[in-house]
Order: sequence, then C-alpha cells, then structure tokens
Amino acid sequence: MKISKYLSLDKEEFIKKIITTYPEPETLEIVGNRKLGKAIAHISGLPYHDCPSKSEWCMKKCYGIYNNRKIFNCSEKSNLMVKAAYYSHLSNTNPEKLSKVLIRTFNKSGYYIFRIHVDGDFFTVGQIEAYISAIKRCKHVKVFFFTRSWNNSELLPYLNKLKSLPNVKGFASVDFSMDKQPPSDWLSASIVGHFNNVGIVCPEQLKKVENCIRCGICFNKRINKNILFFEHS
Ligand code: SF4
Repeated sequence: MKISKYLSLDKEEFIKKIITTYPEPETLEIVGNRKLGKAIAHISGLPYHDCPSKSEWCMKKCYGIYNNRKIFNCSEKSNLMVKAAYYSHLSNTNPEKLSKVLIRTFNKSGYYIFRIHVDGDFFTVGQIEAYISAIKRCKHVKVFFFTRSWNNSELLPYLNKLKSLPNVKGFASVDFSMDKQPPSDWLSASIVGHFNNVGIVCPEQLKKVENCIRCGICFNKRINKNILFFEHS
C-alpha cells in the first residue's frame, strides 16, 4: 500500500475489514524491535490514524510510517497489523474489554517491560483508563511511553494519572512545529535542536549501548531526565 493510500484510509472501514477477516488475538504484545531489544515488547496502534495530536513535523517524519518496517507494508494478516487493528478497535469501543486483554497481555506474554505505542498514540479517555486499571493489577510490569496526547486537554488529566503510577514512566513528546510546551511536571522527549536541548541524548543513537534493555533510562523511574533523540534518517 502506498503511503498516500494509507494516510487516506477510512480508519473504521479498514479496522472492520481486518477484524471481520482475522481472529481476535489473545494478547496484544509485539516482540521488541531492533532498538528496543528482544526482551521488551510493545503495544501499538495505527500510526497517523490513532494520533490525535500529531504535529506538522510528525507528518513528515513519523517513525511508524517512514521507517523500514512501515506498518502498511505488512500483509494484512501480519501480527503487527491485526493486533494494531484490534487494539485500535477496543480502545475506541470497549475499554473494559481492552483492560482485560491488557491484563492478559501483561500476565501471559512472558514480557515484563512494555513500551506503549511504537506506532500510534493515546486517543481516547477509555483507553487510558484501561491502562490505569490493568497496570494497577499488574504491579510486576514496567511500562513506558512517549506521547503527544499531552497536548489534548481532554486526555491530559488521565495521562497524568497514568504516568504517576509507580511502575509507569511517561514522556511528553515535543517538536518545533508544536505551538505549546509540555506541562512543567512532565519529562520531555524531543529532537536535538527542536526544544530546550536539556536532557540525555539517547545512548543507543550514540552507539553507546546496543538497545533499550541495555540502557533503561526510559523505564527507570529514578532517572528524572528529559530524553533527546536525533531524527530518524
Ligand atoms: S534513552 Fe535508553 S531506553 Fe530510552 S530510547 Fe534511548 S536506548 Fe532506549
């Protein structure tokens, strides 16, 4: 599928097609990518379509759309696509069920560190509440996320609750094309040269560590530093 076709998809039609064709997955984790390392799983939605606060810069540089794995270049029946579609669907329509599936994912996947949203972002209150409820019941997991949805006044109070859980670390993603700055009680995640340049440059991008599992800054709650990234090429 071409990028332009993916961007212009009717999300609801697309999801309906997938969930009426492929069986519902038992759990939502996707095995970590090269950067995360194989010991970290992620839970992801549909890039662009599940991103209510995408910025102008995102639209040009979205990792989920323009990097090598390109969700829309996967076959429709791929794990990545089917799980993203079901996850998006549950987030939008059935947060109670989403919470149960998240609990099953946290308990049965065999992973204990999860990044929420390599692709996609938080887009409903119910979805964030489902995470809060599931993570409170799964204290053995560590969860981290980067989000631009702090820029959504309806979602922000729920994101504040989520990031304040003891086993959750959240960063407010920000770039030069956004007209607001993250709230002062949030750690920021930004591109070098885009925001305040105060923080730690991702050691994986500096080739100081092999992957996130060898670093841990983004899920170690005791490290209270902003993160800076270089643009993906
Ligand atoms: S700072 Fe560390 S944990 Fe965070 S993205 Fe970079 S390598 Fe991964």
